[in-house]
Amino acid sequence: MNLKINPERLWANLMETALIGGTQKGGIRRLSLTDEDKRVRDWFKQACESLGCTVSIDELGNMFARRPGRDNTLPPICIGSHLDTQPTGGKFDGVLGVLAGLEILHTLHAAGYETNAPVEVVNWTNEEGARFSPAMLASGAFAGVFDRDFVLSRKDRDGLSFHDELRRIGYAGSIPVQARSISGMFELHIEQGPVLEAENIDIGIVTGVQGMRWYEIAITGVESHAGSTPMWFRKDALLGAAKAVELVREVGVRHGPLAVSTVGVMDVRPNSPNVIPGEVFITIDLRHPDDAVLNCMERELFGALTTALDAISLTFVWERVWHSPAVHFDSHLNEYVRRAADRLGLSRRDIISGAGHDAAYISRVAPTTMIFVPCRDGISHNELEDLTFEQCAAGAAVLLETVLAFDESLEPLQVER
Ligand SMILES: [Zn+2]
Repeated sequence: MNLKINPERLWANLMETALIGGTQKGGIRRLSLTDEDKRVRDWFKQACESLGCTVSIDELGNMFARRPGRDNTLPPICIGSHLDTQPTGGKFDGVLGVLAGLEILHTLHAAGYETNAPVEVVNWTNEEGARFSPAMLASGAFAGVFDRDFVLSRKDRDGLSFHDELRRIGYAGSIPVQARSISGMFELHIEQGPVLEAENIDIGIVTGVQGMRWYEIAITGVESHAGSTPMWFRKDALLGAAKAVELVREVGVRHGPLAVSTVGVMDVRPNSPNVIPGEVFITIDLRHPDDAVLNCMERELFGALTTALDAISLTFVWERVWHSPAVHFDSHLNEYVRRAADRLGLSRRDIISGAGHDAAYISRVAPTTMIFVPCRDGISHNELEDLTFEQCAAGAAVLLETVLAFDESLEPLQVER
């Protein structure tokens, strides 16, 4: 059977739900566990139920819309992403992955097509982390990265807790949040970067998520008078920070094109026009798809920084304050996506995600991959976030093609026991 998604219906659903929390500039403000989140959840639940699916909700509000298959002892094929947005978010980040899943349910339902395995479309709670920090809380809890009570106790800036807000909007389910068997998890998402558009590529085969590390560095010199301290006598902490900025850039360039390195914060003390800075605080963000390369970047950077600061009589201390290991998605699932794109005559390339996603956590407990589509000017987390109707349709078509081929590979257990 030659199933095809209905791209007009998908687009119409994206535009309809975009009105829930819609902003004047054409974006969405739909923070997790707000009234707007409740409204879009209600909409999604109703849409899935009208297709004969059963929607179950776990104790962190993750929603699973299940369409039975021929063999319901097979672990489900999961498709999903998130319906929450940034405070000034766009219409596609996350929503595309959930509503493309809904479109697949529509397509299967309309054709009366029976998959081997059950299909579940998932909405993960609080992906963005904009209201309750950190990001990807509920998919993280599903994968065992966060403890359930830790998630429930998270508070927003007004002191409202995840737990209370989840109950208030009526989405505190009874199913324990924990990993269960999944045949394969597929997340369709906009790239949130400029690569696919710049190269005029339809589909990104996401092979992983880059590793990320954050550091805090305090550089110490001697505060002294800008007028009466000769140049040869100075211990200028800001000069040390300037050298650090340069070294951070160099380490990223040296390990290019995949490495990126940034100094994003600089705090100069005492920050006065006629005082030589005695202390400077900076942050460093290093990213690369390979943890071994990150180790190497870290060693080189702090080795070079020690030499450079010694030479100008400064001392410094550094600490790695956060890290997220590199994620490698399932290579078999990647291959299904490649073949699906080829069958549909769409151009494709392998790509590494620069941002974190629910799929990154789920990949710890189930075979997982992502499919990227381009977005205009690489802009995301912005009300201007956009992609074309054709790009959206291509992504959803690849998702359906991938899921169907993957499902065919799952053998139904005819008779057991
Ligand atoms: Zn997202």
